[in-house]
Amino acid sequence: MIPLDEYDIEEAFAAIEEELIKSMMRNMSRHRIEEVTEDMEWSMWQAEQLKALEKYKRTNQKVFKKHFTYINNSIDTLINQARQQGSMDQEIEILEAIKNGFRSSRTLTKGVRTSAEFFRLNDRKLEALIKATKQDFQRAEIAMLRMANDQYRKIIFIAHAYMNAGAGTYEKAIDMASKDFLTAGINCIEYKNGARVAMAYYARMALKTAGKRAYLTGEGEKRREWGITTVIVNKRGAACPRCLPFVGKVFIDDVWSGGKASDGDYPLLSSAIANGLYHPNCKDSHTTYFEGITTPPKKMSQTDIDRIAENYRLEQQQKYNERMVRRYKMLEEGSLDNDNQKYYKDKRVEWQTRNDILISENDNILRKDSNAYSTKNLNLTGKTLEKLQKENQDYIDKYSKYRYNDSGNIIVTDDHKNDKEYKIPKELKPYAVLETTETKKGITYINRTIYDENSRMVKQIHSGNHAQPKNHPYGETGEHAHVYDWEDGKIKGKSTREMTEIERKENGDIL
Ligand SMILES: [Zn+2]
Ligand SMILES: [Zn+2]
Repeated sequence: MIPLDEYDIEEAFAAIEEELIKSMMRNMSRHRIEEVTEDMEWSMWQAEQLKALEKYKRTNQKVFKKHFTYINNSIDTLINQARQQGSMDQEIEILEAIKNGFRSSRTLTKGVRTSAEFFRLNDRKLEALIKATKQDFQRAEIAMLRMANDQYRKIIFIAHAYMNAGAGTYEKAIDMASKDFLTAGINCIEYKNGARVAMAYYARMALKTAGKRAYLTGEGEKRREWGITTVIVNKRGAACPRCLPFVGKVFIDDVWSGGKASDGDYPLLSSAIANGLYHPNCKDSHTTYFEGITTPPKKMSQTDIDRIAENYRLEQQQKYNERMVRRYKMLEEGSLDNDNQKYYKDKRVEWQTRNDILISENDNILRKDSNAYSTKNLNLTGKTLEKLQKENQDYIDKYSKYRYNDSGNIIVTDDHKNDKEYKIPKELKPYAVLETTETKKGITYINRTIYDENSRMVKQIHSGNHAQPKNHPYGETGEHAHVYDWEDGKIKGKSTREMTEIERKENGDIL
C-alpha cells in the first residue's frame, strides 16, 4: 500500500464531502415535482425523498468505508516516517556543522546508555499519538456521514415550508432549503471554542501537528545522540503573531532533545511552548543552534516586525478570498435553479478577481495557489471519483425497484445458488431478489426470496414441494408462495398459498 500524506488525505476527505453533498443534490434534482402547489404532491415527494435518503445512507456507508480504512491505515506510516526523516535530516545537519568546525561533546558510552531509555520513552509517546489520532479520525468519519444524513433529512422537511413561504418554483424551494448546508459544508468537527470545521481541514491540521511532533522527536533523538541540545527558532517572512516573540531566539530543547537548564545560558523551549509557540496550525520551526558556528541571532528591528506582521495579514487575506471562492463554487454547483446558479457564479468570479488583484499587487510576497479553487477528485487506490460515482449509482439503480427481463421474469439481484452454507437473512437490501437452492431427497429446488422497499423479507417463491407432497398440495409439482407479515421490526406471521398468475409469469424461469 502506498501511504497517503496529509495533503492526499485532505484531498480525499474534500472529495468525499463534495460527493456526499452532490449526490444529495442529484437526488433532489432527479425526483423533482412538476405541480408544486399541491400539498399531496409534497407528501408524496417527501416519502420518495425519505426512501432515497435510506439508500443514500446505506450506499455511503458501504462505499466510503473502504476509503476510510485506507486513510486510517496511512496514519502509522505517516507518523513513523516523519520521525525517521527528522532523525536523518538532523544527522546531515550535525555532520555538516562538524565539517565546519563544530566539536561534539558526545561521550559515546554514556550517550548510548541514556539514549536507549530515551528512545523507548519516545516509542511509547509516538505509539500513543498514533492511537489517539486514529481514534479521532474514526470518530470524525462517523460524524461526517451522520451529519450528511441529518442535513439531507432536514432539507426534505423544510423545502415544503419554503414553498409555502412563496419560493415560486420547486428548484428555488430546494435551493433555499439547502443553502445553509451548501454554504457551511459538512463542518462536522467542533472545536472547544465552538468553531466548526470540515473533516478535510481538520484531518490536514491533525496530521500536520502529529507529523511535526514526530519529526521533532526524530531530530531531538539525533541531537541527544550527539550531545547537543540548543536550538534556534527560524526567521520566517510571515511568522504567525503568536510565535513572533520567539523567532530568531535560542532555546535549550528540553522537550525533544532531552536538554536540561544546566546545558547553557538560554531559556527552555518548554517555556516558550507554554507561552504559545507551536500552537495548532503553526508553520514555524527550529533548527539546531551550534554555538560558535551558527550566526548569532540579531535583535529584530521594529521595521522587521512590522513587515512580518503585514506579510502575515496579506497571506490571511488571500486565504479568506480563496475560501469565499470555494464557498460560492459549491453553491453554484449545488443549486438547482438557473438564476441561483448564475448569481453564485457571478459572486464566485467576483471573489476570484479580487484575489487575482491582491496577488498581483503583492507579487513579491503572495503566490497563486493553483489548487485553491479546484474541484476535488477522489484518487484513492487508483480509483477516480467517476468510478466511485458509478459504483454509487449502480448500487442505487440495482436496489431502487424490482426489475424484469424481456420475458417478464424478475431479475435476481443476489445469487447464492452455489453457496450451500448460505442462511437466508430476514433483512437484505431494498427490492432485493435472492436466489438460493435446497436439496431434499436427492431433488434440488431453486427458491426465491423477495424483499420490500425497506429491505425486509416479504415473500418466498418455492419451486417445489420440499419433498413433502402431502403438506404441499399446490400447483403442478407443489410450487407455492410464502407471505411474511412484519410488525415492530419483527416477523409476526407466515402464510402459505397458491402462486398467483402474475407470480407464475415473474418466476416462470424456475418453475
Ligand atoms: Zn506559529
Ligand atoms: Zn415452502
